[in-house]
Amino acid sequence: MRRWSELAERVAATTRTSEKVGLIAEHLRPLEPARLVPTVIFLSGRPFARSDQRAVGLGWATIAAVASELAGVDPGAFAQAYDLSSDLGRAVAEVLAHRPAQPDPARCPTVVEVAEAFAAIERASGPAGKAAILGDLLARSDPLSAGYIVKVLTGELRIGLREGLLEAAIAQAFGRPLEEVSWAGMLTGDIGQTALLAREGRLAEARLTLFHPLTFMLASPVEDAGEIIARLGPTVWVEDKYDGIRAQLHRLGREVRLYSRDLHDVSRQFPEIVAGAAELGWDGILDGEILAWRDGRVLPFLALQARLGRKEPPATLRAEVPVVFVAFDLLALGAGEGGRAIEGPGGPRVEPLLRRPLAERRRRLEALDLPLAEEGGVFALSHLVTASSAAELERIFAEARARRNEGLMVKDPASSYSPGRRGLGWLKMKKALATLDCVVVGVEMGHGKRHGVLSDYTFAVRDDATGELLTIGKAYSGLTDAELAEMTRWFEAHTLARHGRYRVVEPTVVVEVAFDVIMRSTRHRSGFALRFPRIVRLRPDKSPAEIDTLASVESLFRGLQQGAEHLVTASARALS
Ligand code: AMP
Repeated sequence: MRRWSELAERVAATTRTSEKVGLIAEHLRPLEPARLVPTVIFLSGRPFARSDQRAVGLGWATIAAVASELAGVDPGAFAQAYDLSSDLGRAVAEVLAHRPAQPDPARCPTVVEVAEAFAAIERASGPAGKAAILGDLLARSDPLSAGYIVKVLTGELRIGLREGLLEAAIAQAFGRPLEEVSWAGMLTGDIGQTALLAREGRLAEARLTLFHPLTFMLASPVEDAGEIIARLGPTVWVEDKYDGIRAQLHRLGREVRLYSRDLHDVSRQFPEIVAGAAELGWDGILDGEILAWRDGRVLPFLALQARLGRKEPPATLRAEVPVVFVAFDLLALGAGEGGRAIEGPGGPRVEPLLRRPLAERRRRLEALDLPLAEEGGVFALSHLVTASSAAELERIFAEARARRNEGLMVKDPASSYSPGRRGLGWLKMKKALATLDCVVVGVEMGHGKRHGVLSDYTFAVRDDATGELLTIGKAYSGLTDAELAEMTRWFEAHTLARHGRYRVVEPTVVVEVAFDVIMRSTRHRSGFALRFPRIVRLRPDKSPAEIDTLASVESLFRGLQQGAEHLVTASARALS
């Protein structure tokens, strides 16, 4: 792990992407398979491959406690170290550097041992058992390696390495075309296996596997209708933008599973959708949005929220908040009769449709004849029309709002599906552009009625270049009393440091923040401040890796500045 950590340091130290790629390629080339796989997975900034449903289940507070105990420092000293960098891994390295005696370098765990320890942490039940394994791992590691072990474990690597660069490094290391590496990575969802296939010249063998979720294609925000037509026109495809929970539905035989945006299996939360889809005849993958829905109409997001966070909804809740799966894309389909999978040497196979144009995917989606909600089924198809002018888009936008949807998703019918990318094939037009997804980094007790409740949130966006979290504002939470009480308990249990009233908390809670104007300001580390920020809602469906970036704040700032007075008023209207 020492060599891996030194590599990570060098990658972090250069901003030149070609140099990052070169450094990694050189490191990977001589590795034997057993080391190559965890080396690459860790470089992707996670303890397990993306398609792997395992999670270590170790909270930041436990990690901080383990490190403080090993270093023989009190939690206050650890909190101070954390404050300096707002980086848990760096804080761990910092406190461990002051251990009276450093461990024997010969005993530093290898990447293979670290991977085994991560698997053991996942298997251990309860924080004490997990902490013991982590403690043993960190005790044997030098400070630098210990810091990186924690960074990988918490998914906060922050060395300025996008997945695309890692794929480029794999391609360079083994002399394979980048496109083949990316395609294999996309299909398998496992960058470690992809590296192995690249090493052995077997990239063509990569297969899409059902029940291994693909990362979702994302949309880029656009300021106005004219720009949309200019970018994707002359004629664009326009769908309603539904305000629910994004989900990917996998189906094989009678087995159905639903995955959320963060690739977790959420099937048990929506048993009626699973049961409805089990009745169908085809095998494949749908992309769509789960919505609360009654009598052909969308229910407000708040209704759906009652069903989130519950492992299994009781029958009463299911009756109160019925749900529907609004399908808008078909990502894979069996090539057999009626869309059934074909038996291959490695098991049943479906055909990936990701590289086919949207127009073809939509046609095939419609041909599936999904049983619609109004016919007693659990499906709907996204509302789709075409538009050729800004005025037409504005009219469709107003109609979508009247259907209680959030805005529009504008898509290029010729575009392919690019998992995990905020491509230009999909543009989102929300008007309520003046919202940002931020992560809460600090909380404070409220005043008056809110006394005793941690109701004031300080939140941050991410610097895309360094991965660092940069504060952008502070707001009184607009959450319900019940949500506030629950979040207060959560923040109390996940406090990393205290400064008088202010608590530095584990940066994992994502909130959607609305505001009126963005201004340049030195008050916050991002260099921006928001006027009248308000927390619209919690975004449990988004991970801190998906929050808005400094670059999107900058482009929003420029957009709002370019005489876009009307946008500000429009967004205020859209939010009211
Ligand atoms: P945002 O959450 O604001 O970044 O917007 C992107 C999200 O819009 C996607 O992740 C989907 O959950 C959602 N969405 C709603 N309707 C559609 C649609 N018709 N096509 C694609 N995505 C949609």
